[in-house]
Amino acid sequence: MPLSKKAPVIVIDGPAGVGKSTVAREIARRLELPFLDTGAIYRAVTLVMLRENIPPADSPELRGRMNDFSVSFSGVRVFIGGEDVTDEIRTPRIDANVSPYSALPVVREFLLEIQRKQRENGLVAEGRDMGTVVFPDADLKVYLTASPEERARRRCSERIAKGERVDYDEILSQARARDEMDSTRDVAPLKPAGDAVILDTTGLSFDDVTERVMDLAARALTGG
Ligand code: C5P
Repeated sequence: MPLSKKAPVIVIDGPAGVGKSTVAREIARRLELPFLDTGAIYRAVTLVMLRENIPPADSPELRGRMNDFSVSFSGVRVFIGGEDVTDEIRTPRIDANVSPYSALPVVREFLLEIQRKQRENGLVAEGRDMGTVVFPDADLKVYLTASPEERARRRCSERIAKGERVDYDEILSQARARDEMDSTRDVAPLKPAGDAVILDTTGLSFDDVTERVMDLAARALTGG
């Protein structure tokens, strides 16, 4: 699709396990735009803090560590310093600990600039507060939803495909707990921006969702 907009910004927000990453990555590939997975950044922070036994509270230790924090991406791989942490940030241990760290205003402030710096050539960014806080002037804001049960089923399939053992009930209750924390925190809670297009993906395939977002992108970016 020829884009008439220079450096367009497309954001995709939504709760855990709704398929944001898969869809956003595919949209980025088709539009030849950089892709930004902001959940990976919060996960990387969580990994660093857990390794260094720094609890999720605003403290001089946590601020000091955030000051030195840097994350980089190479395709689908995520690095802290030179270390590839792609697999380690997706473990149940990180799932269970990420929300308390990401609820801290000090963590969010530190990460704001890191995220905004990525927009120079346009991007497709996914997360929880892309449309509300990080890129409020985005050209297209999409908010994906799906029932908690459907999201837990999708997470199970992903993990089974990776050869992991899964417990559906545990995944469902963890996803519910994470959504509850993410949507009730004081700073940048999970919620659709007022001007976001809300897309309920329950019962839709990955291809269906991708096509719908591509249609929205075509309208937003080409005036078509
Ligand atoms: O999207 P993903 O499941 O990888 O996100 C992990 C966690 O990071 C979320 O549950 C949320 O606590 C946090 N997060 C956030 N804001 C974002 C992206 C992720 O608070 N923009």
